[in-house]
Amino acid sequence: MKTERRSAIKKIVASTTALVGLGPMAMARSEKSKENPLGLPPKHDYFRELGVTRVINAGATMTFLSGSLMMPETLAAINATAHDFADMYELQDKVGAKIAEMLHCEAAMVTSGAAAALVLGTAGIITGTDADKRKQLPNLAGDRPEVIMQKSHRYVFDQAITTTGAKIIEVEGPDEMEKAINKNTIMALFFNGAISWYGIKDSIDHEEFVAVCKRHKIPSFIDAAADVPPVENLFKYQKMGFDLVTFSGGKMIRGPQSAGLLFGRKDLIEAAKLNNSPHEAPIGRPMKVNKEEMFGMYAALKSYLERDHKKEWQDWLSRAESIRSEIATIPSVKGETHVPDGPANVVPSLHVTWDQKRVKTTPKEVYDALKGGTPSIVCGGVGQKDGKELLSVGVVLLRPEQVSIVAKRLKEVLRQAVR
Ligand SMILES: *Cc1c(COP(=O)(O)O)cnc(C)c1O
Repeated sequence: MKTERRSAIKKIVASTTALVGLGPMAMARSEKSKENPLGLPPKHDYFRELGVTRVINAGATMTFLSGSLMMPETLAAINATAHDFADMYELQDKVGAKIAEMLHCEAAMVTSGAAAALVLGTAGIITGTDADKRKQLPNLAGDRPEVIMQKSHRYVFDQAITTTGAKIIEVEGPDEMEKAINKNTIMALFFNGAISWYGIKDSIDHEEFVAVCKRHKIPSFIDAAADVPPVENLFKYQKMGFDLVTFSGGKMIRGPQSAGLLFGRKDLIEAAKLNNSPHEAPIGRPMKVNKEEMFGMYAALKSYLERDHKKEWQDWLSRAESIRSEIATIPSVKGETHVPDGPANVVPSLHVTWDQKRVKTTPKEVYDALKGGTPSIVCGGVGQKDGKELLSVGVVLLRPEQVSIVAKRLKEVLRQAVR
């Protein structure tokens, strides 16, 4: 499924570069007013103006597909705060303090995503409050700082760690971890979703990992970027004793895509902030989060914590069921609600299978037909289960009225293949 997704990424990039002709530029302008200072038409269609394809996301929170849609509360916060200036140091401090209170931890900050949180958290641990070291990163004088990771936890995002100049030391099992720690060890990183991505059990579990770190006074950092729902995960890892935790803001929390959360120990968060914008030079300066998105991230988290998660889950299940029942009218087509084991990306989706002798098409062909159709619908991907090819159809990022659009288009494409 992962490789399929990657090849889909390439294709999307290729197709969006082939822009269709611009729509008529002579758009009626409405009166200038306080709410509409530029006098733009109320429903200015920027997608059309630029010839960018609107996509229905019947997949997951994929970065190449712009992540997720911001909650109305997020958008309201962005709009409500866009008309005044703020001191960015004060804003980061106050937003951070509030988020820390909400997440029952010492301190927090808003970063430009979880990947930036990995850079900033690591940089902060390396530099502490030392201004010279901040200036030197990623070329610190002396030995390279070492970060310990389980071999089975190595992943694409650990380049964020080496961006700071640190080196990753791979270990397996708690004994190897103990032995690997030396004077250059600055931190240990736990990739929470490793078991979801690779299906391989952690060689050091969370508790052992934290215990080894505590014994050697090494900060522990956990990447849980895609690990809500359940909402409880936002509290779980700091309670276990991890010193730093990161979550993406633009996945299921539905904040700005270019925002994320870094939280945990106060001294480490303060050091991370020193390595970030609005300071002019440090490694994190190119990872700026604007004022509106800081407010937006706060509003998104607040809304996420207050949401009725049971009701939301039920709604997702009924979406999957309504698509399933619509396509089940085609001979041999079956839909099954699938919830991954977790901890990463734990949301329901529909796994669709059929007898390819009766419905003469493959999941990949259906994926492509939906993507290339009007409207463009991008599914979660194709995969296999029990030797059977399947198409994964996501439901959690659909706008309510898009559920029936996806069901109808899917049915149409499958029906055309019945021969
Ligand atoms: C998505 C993801 C990231 C990156 O998060 P951004 O918020 O997009 O920077 C990092 N780690 C994991 C495990 C992820 O799933």
